[in-house]
Amino acid sequence: MEANFFLGKDLIDAFNDAYEKELSLTGKEIIEQLIKNAEIARTEEVPMCQDTGFAVVFVELGQEVHILGGALEDAINEGVRRGYTEGYLRKSIVGHPLERINTGDNTPCVLHLKLVPGDKLKITVAPKGGGSENMSAIKMLKPAEGVEGVKKFVLDTVKTAGPNPCPPIIVGVGIGGTFEKSAILAKEALLRSVGSPSPRPEIACLEKELLDEINKTGIGPQGLGGRYTALAVHVEIYPAHIASLPVAVNLNCHAGRHKEIIL
Ligand code: SF4
Repeated sequence: MEANFFLGKDLIDAFNDAYEKELSLTGKEIIEQLIKNAEIARTEEVPMCQDTGFAVVFVELGQEVHILGGALEDAINEGVRRGYTEGYLRKSIVGHPLERINTGDNTPCVLHLKLVPGDKLKITVAPKGGGSENMSAIKMLKPAEGVEGVKKFVLDTVKTAGPNPCPPIIVGVGIGGTFEKSAILAKEALLRSVGSPSPRPEIACLEKELLDEINKTGIGPQGLGGRYTALAVHVEIYPAHIASLPVAVNLNCHAGRHKEIIL
C-alpha cells in the first residue's frame, strides 16, 4: 500500500529537477501534473496510478535466519493479498496467461529470493505497471557488437516504446550473465535511487551517455514532446560467457514505486 501511495523522495526530486529544466511548455505542464498527482496520492493515501502493478518482491534472506510457522512465499503472498484488498488497489493478475481469469487478489507475486550473509530479512516490494513492462526488451548480442551494440539496442528499445511506458521513464539495463540474469539485473537496476550513478566509472559514463541520447529523441513527458523522455538510466553488469553479450532493458514509467523493510 505504501509503495503505491508514497513515491520516494529521490523520484519527487527528479520530477522537480525535470520541471525546472524542461524546455517544452506542454512537457513542463505534464511534469507539474505528475508532481501534483504524487502529492494527492501521498496526502489522500490513494494509488498514484490506476495500474497498481504486478507485486514484484525482492527478498534478501540472511543465511542465519530460520523461518518458522510456514512457507516464506506463502507469507509474502498473504501480505500482497491483504495489501491489495485493504488498500483498494487494482487487482491486475490473471491466474493463467492464456485463459486469463483474474485471481481477484493480485496474487501471486513475482518473488526473487537471494541468500545473503547475516541474520536479517530485507523485503523490497516493487509494484510494476503493465504498460512499461510491455515495452521492455531483451537481446542476445554478439560479443563483437560491444558497447556500440548495447547503446543501439537501448536506444532502439526506448524509441520503439515511444509514449507507451508513460514517460518520463527510468531505464534499467542489465548487461552480461545469462538470458535470465540480464533481465533480473535490469529489474534490480530500477531499485536504485533515481539518478544515482554506478560506482564503476566506465558504467557511470555509459549511463550518462545513454541518458543524453535518450533525451535527444524528443519523445518527452507522456510522449507529447520535450526534453525529459527519461529521468535516469541505471546499468548493472555481470560477468558473461565468452560467446555471449546479453542485454536486457527494463523500462519503468514515472511511477517508479518501491518500498523496503528490514526485519
Ligand atoms: S505504465 Fe506506469 S504510469 Fe503508465 S499506466 Fe502503467 S503503472 Fe501507470
